[in-house]
Amino acid sequence: MQINLAKRLGKLPPYLFAELDRLKKEVQAKGVDVISLGIGDPDLPTPDYIVAALKQAAEKPVNHRYPDYEGLESFRAAAANWYQRRFGVSFDPKTEVCALIGSKEGIANFSTAVIDPGDIVLIPDPGYPVYFSGCTFSGGEAYFLPLRKQNGFLPDLGSIPLEVARRAKLLWVNYPNNPTGAVADLSFFKTAVEFCLRNDIILAHDLAYSEIAYDGYRAPSVFEVDRARECAVEFHSLSKTFSMTGWRVGFVVGNPTLVAGLGKVKTNTDSGVFQGIQEAAIAALEGGDDTLRQYCATYKQRRDVMVTALRDLGLACDAPKATFYIWAEVPKGYTSASFSERVLKEAGVVITPGSGFGNGGEGYVRLSITIGTERLKEAAARIKALKL
Ligand SMILES: *Cc1c(COP(=O)(O)O)cnc(C)c1O
Repeated sequence: MQINLAKRLGKLPPYLFAELDRLKKEVQAKGVDVISLGIGDPDLPTPDYIVAALKQAAEKPVNHRYPDYEGLESFRAAAANWYQRRFGVSFDPKTEVCALIGSKEGIANFSTAVIDPGDIVLIPDPGYPVYFSGCTFSGGEAYFLPLRKQNGFLPDLGSIPLEVARRAKLLWVNYPNNPTGAVADLSFFKTAVEFCLRNDIILAHDLAYSEIAYDGYRAPSVFEVDRARECAVEFHSLSKTFSMTGWRVGFVVGNPTLVAGLGKVKTNTDSGVFQGIQEAAIAALEGGDDTLRQYCATYKQRRDVMVTALRDLGLACDAPKATFYIWAEVPKGYTSASFSERVLKEAGVVITPGSGFGNGGEGYVRLSITIGTERLKEAAARIKALKL
């Protein structure tokens, strides 16, 4: 028989990273010791006290059963307390917080909760690919907001045509930003909240990198803005903050109608986060500040090594105030893809072409500093030897 997959799968863009992956294997097969600066996944391990909490929680039979869909009340309370401590805003754990199987899950399912076919979704370009896939799976229409260097990689909301704003249902923002490493201050969030309230648009903020920050920088929450609760949700993840990408746990906070809508999709799709992991996540949220500081100091040292090396090579880049990504301009005469390909083939170093995050990423590459300093220096030396 002939198998025809759903047409919506055909609407996803070709996966640029798959080609890069194929090339990486080809280079490795030649015996090259490939260094990867491609992955947005912390190499630093989950702190011991969190692993210990999971071990204990795993022993309890009560945790072996189906969890509550929306998360343990104690987990939601820990998330709300963390927000209070970190941002000075309070949420009702019962109605304004929901546990997620990693924030990617919530981000993807959120579109199902709020987007009808034909609705416009405002999506940053370049951006985390899941905003677009969620939109596409729900039959939404993407309107891309270019993130340009001259605007500090912030979207220019004032440039959105009136008829687009009128039809738009949802705006995605993400600061500290993946892939550009840019940050936004409270005045940007104020503008975004005003824009959304004026146009009846739901504001979804992806705050995955709030705690990976340097030089004293403290990322704000959209909920530090007055009236944000009328239109917004914020997605938070333990993945980057506590080096817990493999654990799959995050949460959403914000407008209770929106949180309940996402909860309804989840009730009908998944059965929540393993309670043992939720208990470990409570331990993380209640106790992590010392390890956090230490991990950020490690990333900062790597950032300084890499930024210095890149500038030395003539590749322009800002030293990011947050995230573990460096967004660097490709040299003249290259595209994102051709530069990444040359660096992989001839230097054995994997870097991510900016165009893989959308057309707006063309002309840039993303380097992830999730490997040790010595390997970073080695990667930089190999790129230097290419004599670009
Ligand atoms: C890593 C990442 C996420 C998702 O993290 P989870 O592991 O699913 O919690 C969400 N948004 C951005 C921008 C990310 O880089």
